Amino acid sequence: MMGKIMRIINITRYRIFVISAFLLATSHVATALEVHSGHATQGGMIIIKTDPDATLTVDDQPLMLSDTGFAVLGFHRDDTSAIHLHATYSDGSDAYLAITPEPRQFKEQRIDGLPSHMVTPPQAVLDRIARDRKLVSKARSASSALMGWQQDFIWPTHGIITGIYGSRRILNGQPRAPHYGIDIAAATGTPVKAPADGIITMVDDLYFTGITIIMDHGHGISSTFLHLNKADVQPGQTVKQGDVIGSVGSSGRSTGAHLDWRINWFDKRLDPALLTGPMPDS
Ligand SMILES: [Zn+2]
Repeated sequence: MMGKIMRIINITRYRIFVISAFLLATSHVATALEVHSGHATQGGMIIIKTDPDATLTVDDQPLMLSDTGFAVLGFHRDDTSAIHLHATYSDGSDAYLAITPEPRQFKEQRIDGLPSHMVTPPQAVLDRIARDRKLVSKARSASSALMGWQQDFIWPTHGIITGIYGSRRILNGQPRAPHYGIDIAAATGTPVKAPADGIITMVDDLYFTGITIIMDHGHGISSTFLHLNKADVQPGQTVKQGDVIGSVGSSGRSTGAHLDWRINWFDKRLDPALLTGPMPDS
């Protein structure tokens, strides 16, 4: 009889031990999945922080996590619905986080009375444009482990801002794709610098955008530099923030010397102005 009671007590003690061990294992997860920095808005980039041992997904797609526990993602100009993050930890616990991008107002500009060939390119040009698009989309699909996106981005060149992210032009009544870059007017030959560390993934001369450089900053974040006068880098080259990669020009379909700088998270277009401070007085 005595022996049986002792055994029940022992089992009870064992159960208490198991329960407290379980509580310890789950308690470290309480603060484990959070927005670390960035802008949860249309065109914004956000940095997520979690345990480095996590496996992370966004809307059920894998999301790359650095060995320090950081991940990055971005919202397109027209994104309105919430994204869902799910982290699974090595102890079997998990965490969820939903983030809804805040809507923004974008400018609209109507230009009428343009010659029709300026609005719709001739067929001969369309094949060239299709080839250019493939090259660009391949260069932007890079998903390296580079960490340039964690830096504070610097302006690649200084000048007057003549075009902003998200504005839409309506030519002869036909809506055109919104403008996804930031246009910086500067003299031809003004140096263009790497806004953050990266690797050059494309250098080419394209129909619309002229001499074009694409740079991978890691985890799907890339920079594109359009209408250059010349490129001083080669594909595969590693660059540090502030290194000169080329110079401002007016190549491609451009009306004057300026740099059009774009930022992508894979195929989502982000607003470069959200990643830098205000333009410094040269
Ligand atoms: Zn532009």
